[in-house]
Amino acid sequence: MMIIATKISEVREQVRAWKAEGLTVGLVPTMGYLHEGHASLVDRAVAECDRVVASDFVNPTQFAPGEDLESYPRDFEHDCALLEQHGCDMVFYPEVSEMYEQDAATYVEILSDMPKQLCGKTRPTHFRGVCTVVAKLFNIVTPDKAFFGQKDAQQLAIIRRMVRDMSYGIEIVGCPIIREEDGLAKSSRNTYLNAEERQAALVLSKAVRLGQELVKSGERDAQKVVGEMVSLIEGEPLTRIDYVSAVDGITMENVTEITDGTLVAMAVYVGKTRLIDNFIAEV
Ligand code: AMP
Repeated sequence: MMIIATKISEVREQVRAWKAEGLTVGLVPTMGYLHEGHASLVDRAVAECDRVVASDFVNPTQFAPGEDLESYPRDFEHDCALLEQHGCDMVFYPEVSEMYEQDAATYVEILSDMPKQLCGKTRPTHFRGVCTVVAKLFNIVTPDKAFFGQKDAQQLAIIRRMVRDMSYGIEIVGCPIIREEDGLAKSSRNTYLNAEERQAALVLSKAVRLGQELVKSGERDAQKVVGEMVSLIEGEPLTRIDYVSAVDGITMENVTEITDGTLVAMAVYVGKTRLIDNFIAEV
């Protein structure tokens, strides 16, 4: 039976017992409303670690006022069923008050330009919230490895940087993007889309494929690749582009030439829903 822990102390106690037995521990941080993308991280963690902890917490500090914190979809029962089915040993499901004291005032923030690029342009406090909650989860769970999706490519790069800068002895494992059959990257936020928007949202994965094909056919001019992707997306009337950018896969700085490891990433509004997708150039 999967353990459901709502208190930090319960997690610490259980992890201590596992470690005393010499077992390794993997962590899969999530915001819940789980789908096959999350499940793939759990599968990977189960394959690589003796015990797996998933966190299920809609983290308020990574949402800005006016974003979708209140409406973010939740279904803890379904999450538990999915996690248990995939061999997760413990889910950490804390209240906001368990994670944040009312007067909490300490944050983990990367002070380079890295969190200001891409999603950081329109969500300037987002990655500070992400780093803070992930650092707390690392301190609570003390995992050997932690698993993150390439779907949130900037988040993954930022977590790697935080782990390096803060000397966390945790291996970060990046996992590939899981998609619906028609190509749409799986996301808890896909539930916001009506039927018409769901169809329009396909333009993101189509743009990813177009970009990949251009790179494959030898195009190395970042502006050209991005330009073609932008044109394709602009042809879909229900969408509004936040950004389409080609950046260094580690620093998130803009590049002019596509090389191996270049991250080509986008955020696009489909109706009121902001969706992201990306690919890493293989040259
Ligand atoms: P979230 O619950 O959206 O915060 O996501 C939790 C973790 O699942 C993050 O590391 C995401 O990158 C990862 N994830 C979300 N969607 C996908 C997907 N479609 N494929 C792979 N990983 C994903």
